[in-house]
Amino acid sequence: MAIINQVFKTIMGGTGKKPSLDGVLAIFDRELENFQTLVQPEPTSKPRTPFDSPNLTFDQMYMSRLSLRQILEFLPVMIPLRVRMSQSARLYDGKFQAKHSEATPGFLSALENMARTAGAADIRYVKVPRNAIFQHKGIPHEYAVVITVEMDKEKLSNAPSFAAMIEVAKGYGNLARIGNQLAHFMRQNGFAAYPGTALGGLTDYTHLAEVAGLGAIGYHGLLISPNEGARLRINTIYTNITNLPIQTANKHLWVRDFCAMCKKCIRGCPVQAIYEQPRPRGDGGMQCIDHAACRDYFNQNYGCAVCLTKCPFSEMGYEKVKARFKGNPDAPQFRIPVLEKGA
Ligand code: SF4
Ligand code: SF4
Repeated sequence: MAIINQVFKTIMGGTGKKPSLDGVLAIFDRELENFQTLVQPEPTSKPRTPFDSPNLTFDQMYMSRLSLRQILEFLPVMIPLRVRMSQSARLYDGKFQAKHSEATPGFLSALENMARTAGAADIRYVKVPRNAIFQHKGIPHEYAVVITVEMDKEKLSNAPSFAAMIEVAKGYGNLARIGNQLAHFMRQNGFAAYPGTALGGLTDYTHLAEVAGLGAIGYHGLLISPNEGARLRINTIYTNITNLPIQTANKHLWVRDFCAMCKKCIRGCPVQAIYEQPRPRGDGGMQCIDHAACRDYFNQNYGCAVCLTKCPFSEMGYEKVKARFKGNPDAPQFRIPVLEKGA
């Protein structure tokens, strides 16, 4: 057990008694000290949700129960993810000097083609609302490219399971790979580009994805998007490009009217961590989940993902749900700001 613990601590970080993803993210965060100025969060911005469960011992975490065969399958997924996240963080060395701040349609078209060829499900743009920047963090530039990757329906179907956890980890690995690839391409063309770390990060990626028009946040707190439903992971690349084709409308917000009737994720959550109704937050967003309850179960049960897989948008598909939905005029309205004033 001690050896397994040490292996995971080496990959994921953690100098104490167990692996600590928050510890490794804190190392990445220190790269922000290389910048003299950063776009700051709002005073009401929420903190980044911690990944670590302070009350769990390593023996209680799913990692301690992996068989040798599972460890041998897990490491080739986790090691590249960890390496790519470090590569993303290293781009925050404060040395890059941008030459341009306006992109041509041809460049953006090439960027989008590159993203899709590399495996992105979608790519959009956003001016980052300051209330989406986590408390005590900051970002180098106020514009961002937002990308999503899809996770396989079949592999997620038995969540919580080892197979589902591997698929989620692969999703993060793909995000990190694509984020780094796009950032290098943007820099080669003279634009500032700073990929977010696929896990954690400096901003609330679901918030950015909704503002970018990629989908809508469901009652489980995850993005729901056409084609993939909630089987998505999200990453960003912060940039100085000022003339991005930013979308100002979101045609997916009806999803929450459906959620108000559905509530399948709320009933299906093994630890009742999803609120019956999202709670308005001080930053203008909505709090959907008791994160501490979710996290402890998540860390004991292969990263859980039950809410993601059982969501009708993931199971049946966005278009089928939409075709059958007759509307819900009584649904409570939750709107996170689509565009900042003056944006
Ligand atoms: S399971 Fe139902 S309530 Fe939960 S996010 Fe999906 S559609 Fe919304
Ligand atoms: S990941 Fe699992 S524990 Fe967390 S909210 Fe979803 S269903 Fe509940």
